[in-house]
Amino acid sequence: MSETTSSLHIFNSLSGKKEPFVPIEDKHVGMYVCGPTVYSNVHLGNCRTFISFDLVFRYLKHLGYSVRYVRNITDAGHLEHDADEGEDRISKKARLEQIEPMEVVQRYTVDFHKTLAAFNTLAPNIEPTATGHIIEQIEIVKEIIASGYAYEVGGSVYFDVEKFNTTNTYGALSGRKLEDMIHNTRALSGQSEKKAPQDFALWKKAEPQHIMRWPSPWGDGFPGWHLECTAMSTKYLGDQFDIHGGGMDLKFPHHECEIAQAKAVNKKNPVNTWMHANMLTLNGKKMAKSTGNNILPNELFDGSNALLSKPFSPDVTKFFMLQAHYRSVLDLSSDALEAAEKGYNRLINGIKLLSQLPQSNESSVDITKSIQAFYDAMNDDFNSPVLIAELFETVKLIHRVSEGEDKLTASDLETLQKTIDAFVFDVLGLTLDASSKEDNAFLDKALDVLIEMRNQARASKDFATSDRIRDALLEKGIQLKDGKDGTSYSLMS
Ligand code: AMP
Ligand code: ZN
Repeated sequence: MSETTSSLHIFNSLSGKKEPFVPIEDKHVGMYVCGPTVYSNVHLGNCRTFISFDLVFRYLKHLGYSVRYVRNITDAGHLEHDADEGEDRISKKARLEQIEPMEVVQRYTVDFHKTLAAFNTLAPNIEPTATGHIIEQIEIVKEIIASGYAYEVGGSVYFDVEKFNTTNTYGALSGRKLEDMIHNTRALSGQSEKKAPQDFALWKKAEPQHIMRWPSPWGDGFPGWHLECTAMSTKYLGDQFDIHGGGMDLKFPHHECEIAQAKAVNKKNPVNTWMHANMLTLNGKKMAKSTGNNILPNELFDGSNALLSKPFSPDVTKFFMLQAHYRSVLDLSSDALEAAEKGYNRLINGIKLLSQLPQSNESSVDITKSIQAFYDAMNDDFNSPVLIAELFETVKLIHRVSEGEDKLTASDLETLQKTIDAFVFDVLGLTLDASSKEDNAFLDKALDVLIEMRNQARASKDFATSDRIRDALLEKGIQLKDGKDGTSYSLMS
């Protein structure tokens, strides 16, 4: 690995600080990200979180790490209300639609994969399901009971938070104090079979009407939502691994409970670096399935949502998201998407112009500074907005070289091309999306015709016509350039 890799810093939600990233095993990274609960179509908010971690995965790979990226599918155990109450979300959907729970799971898993493929995200290395790991989850429940931190009541098993807190700190990740939690939830106690409201379910007894159920030492039931992530992350990444990610809204209780479960069994912190991606909002409020305040990716791609002025391609949408840092809240609006589209086009046109630049004998600028700036941005907690700003600086340089105001050697041009391709296509994961590729092929053909007509006019000394073609194109933002190898064009930004 090169010099630039040693300085990656990641903001660790557990310490509240940016820390130098040092993996447990040299050159290897284990990363777990909480996946979707597949009971409805993923909305753009969900997509933002998965795009944020796709950026992390891609950059770690770019730095030369061998990454094992595990992202689960929650297909059981996630109840309607986070506090162990209500129906299982998938069972409920199956009951309402009168289909099998696994049909619900299949339908929305397919939708999830299709949507993430449209955004050109990379598949994780392992995508385990909660229902595929019931045995592992039951084993962990047994171990937590054996360690004294869980109790059984009426066929369900709960984690005893207060007992755990006597020798550990519950709430360290979310910055909550157990005494405050007890104080705030006191009114609710007595209504539940739990010893205390802050206790959480490891295993829930299945009532007779509950469709998704498995036999266990405590009777027929199903696992608690937090348990699946502990079971699957430790199974595939070990008792202690490098990175655990998810949306900010999962910090409490989900991730706090994961830490407690793993510590109860293994007596050590399961995760070195906790990463939390911030929320996508709509009209200033969190996009969510439950409130209906959301836009589906397809409504954006085909422009069918009334809030949007026009359709936006997956690439433009992704560029819009990457122009914000993953830890900042981002509000989606038609205006913001239109601005992102302009920026995206400027970047892509700059990259195209790069391949047509003239070569000089010497360079008038030091491109290693630009390249280092790309790495500095990403090494600073995956700062994609700063990276994109640096890429725009390079687009300016490309235009200056095209105008003859700056010069680059063949070798500098090649290095710049390789680095820009790596950051734009491999790290940011943008594509020259199909529509823009098609548009450009047509544009090339149309301009070939115009350039040919202009050449004929010039050959017959009809300069009025040749100038008119050049000036009319320039007025529309297309600049013709006459060089040794004929005439080329560039789009002005
Ligand atoms: P869920 O399917 O509800 O479990 O959510 C899947 C992932 O999407 C989790 O990591 C959530 O934190 C994340 N998520 C949910 N809503 C939003 C949002 N509005 N913005 C960003 N991420 C979200
Ligand atoms: Zn999880």
